Amino acid sequence: MSTPRLLPADSGIAEAASVLRTGGLVAFPTETVYGLGANALDARAAARIFEAKARPSFDPLITHLAEAAELEKLVGAVPVAVAALAERFWPGPLTLIVDRPTVIPPIVTSGLATMAVRVPDHDAARALIAAAGVPVAAPSANRFGQLSPTRAEHVVRGLGAAVDVVLDGGPTRCGIESTIVDVREGRPVVLRLGALPMEALADAVGPVVVRPGSSGQPVAPGLLAAHYAPRTPLRLAAAAGPAVGDGARRGFLAFRGRPVGEWAAVEVLSVAGDLTEAAARLFDALHRLDAAAVDEIVVEPVPETGIGRAINDRLRRAAATWH
Ligand code: AMP
Ligand code: MG
Repeated sequence: MSTPRLLPADSGIAEAASVLRTGGLVAFPTETVYGLGANALDARAAARIFEAKARPSFDPLITHLAEAAELEKLVGAVPVAVAALAERFWPGPLTLIVDRPTVIPPIVTSGLATMAVRVPDHDAARALIAAAGVPVAAPSANRFGQLSPTRAEHVVRGLGAAVDVVLDGGPTRCGIESTIVDVREGRPVVLRLGALPMEALADAVGPVVVRPGSSGQPVAPGLLAAHYAPRTPLRLAAAAGPAVGDGARRGFLAFRGRPVGEWAAVEVLSVAGDLTEAAARLFDALHRLDAAAVDEIVVEPVPETGIGRAINDRLRRAAATWH
């Protein structure tokens, strides 16, 4: 398999920006996970994202901007509630829902009248978008339904030459996708739990509603059936119990303590019990367990608070693939 051009995130910006401007695909680091970017004004470039990821056309993309001020230029009048959240949390791991402007082709939003948009809190990402001079549509840079990439090598391994350039900015800081919030109806509704904790949102805007299905309780398991999933079967365990002695090779993903018994591979997310550290290491640890040639990965849920809710959400969806 041929490979994409791998460029350093600092010195590779100009070249990567010109690839974006000419309709190419550039994977780049953000504070959440690596994104697979294309010019959001170019329907053909956006179509290449769906093709490279084997992403169903009904799954809309998030558009990324270099600065909060770009939103007004793109959509005209910004609703007050959107502006308030953008002012408070951008750049940052918060995606907001606005009306789709006509310059954004419908393929980007999967035909929806609305568009998801955010400003990433990552210097190289913002420099890239600014240098490209266009809004950049970018879902996570992995094949649809698989583990999200938190390192450049995850992107290279997962997408290969389907992407033109990969900007390598090292491991991502948050490690979990953005929180998606819709404030168009007044009270904020969380559409996807993510790296911005619910508590931080509630502090800023008062009570927030989590849409059923985004908290990890599947309303429609079929819809969730292949998300954030390693290739190895994955199962949630209540706690770090002993290994089952049935001859199967199992890997264990622990929150803070090592499990008892014989495990073929063990990953501990945070010895200090720090949920932020656990989130940052989550996908990397799952990528390693997936590569460890085990028959099953057993995962221990983390405390259901702060970013822990988003971690558990990803784990439940990964497990839903196998049950
Ligand atoms: P990702 O693949 O992590 O970039 O996430 C993209 C996700 O954002 C989609 O799967 C949708 O759940 C959500 N999304 C994107 N656009 C919209 C929109 N216009 N309205 C609601 N959710 C959206
Ligand atoms: Mg994704």
